[in-house]
Amino acid sequence: MADRFSEQFIQALETHDRKTLVAIPKSDLHNHIGRGCRKQWLSQKLNHEFADPPAKFDGLMGMQNWYVNEIRDYCREHDATDLRREGCFVEAGRNHLVRFAPGFAVEDIEECGSMKAFMDFWNAMHQKYCPDAVFEPELAFPSYGDVQAEIPLAEEYFASGFFHSIDVCCGEGYKPFEAYIPLYKIAEKNHVLKRMHVGESGTAEDVEAAVETLGLDEVHHGIHAATSPRVMKLLADRKITLNVCPTSNIMLGYANTYEDYPIKTLVENGVPVTINTDDLLVFNSTIDEEYLRLYEAGTLTAKQLDEIRLWGIGEKNGTNN
Ligand SMILES: [Zn+2]
Repeated sequence: MADRFSEQFIQALETHDRKTLVAIPKSDLHNHIGRGCRKQWLSQKLNHEFADPPAKFDGLMGMQNWYVNEIRDYCREHDATDLRREGCFVEAGRNHLVRFAPGFAVEDIEECGSMKAFMDFWNAMHQKYCPDAVFEPELAFPSYGDVQAEIPLAEEYFASGFFHSIDVCCGEGYKPFEAYIPLYKIAEKNHVLKRMHVGESGTAEDVEAAVETLGLDEVHHGIHAATSPRVMKLLADRKITLNVCPTSNIMLGYANTYEDYPIKTLVENGVPVTINTDDLLVFNSTIDEEYLRLYEAGTLTAKQLDEIRLWGIGEKNGTNN
């Protein structure tokens, strides 16, 4: 498997050529819109130097507290919340994403006043900053949310045809997977991809249970599937892609180092994976850097990383159809 950029991509990894890596078509299928911009870009726009993140956070809550104190509140005070979201599209254009799947929350729609106003606003951003990218907006529900109250919202928002996928995020283990079935049924009815954050802090068995209970097409994170040959076989047989985020997992303590990042085991066991940024504004590692870090740590070969790039941008799994 190769495209006309493969040779260049491999060479750019081998020579630490950031400029070329940035210019080559890539995907980012797991990023949260409000935290998807580059810190340097936001700093320039606001003429404010944000603090660097610590090397490790104390789990999701530690990360959330840092983000609120160091970034979110400053943006609120300076009316820059939309600027942050806009920066996510700027980065998609700068880093030549040809598939771009930012995750939105229900509140993002409510803030716009109507689904129509929301769609018009973000479609315009897409056209302005990254028209070459296939824009695949995701609607994410918090894992601790009130599913009954979310049902009519999910009905309305998925029926609009704007969203390409569903996600449940913000921490695992709040409820049994069965609790989310109504949301995934609505997603299924509207023919959107079914994704969920699972196997980030949770186990391989959690990944399996979520896939079976909710009929997931893809998994966000899912790295702990690498502890179970049986679960990896299930994912490989069904071609269920794991959208993994190396720097996020390492900084949150869900993985140790790039060298032993579980992507190697997943790839060797035939599990399809993509590489993604999660929260660029927090973890401060752009998509080209994510590839480079895994190459330079010796986790995967340049050719393996190119195959992952191709899987992410590709027509391979029919997600563009
Ligand atoms: Zn995430």
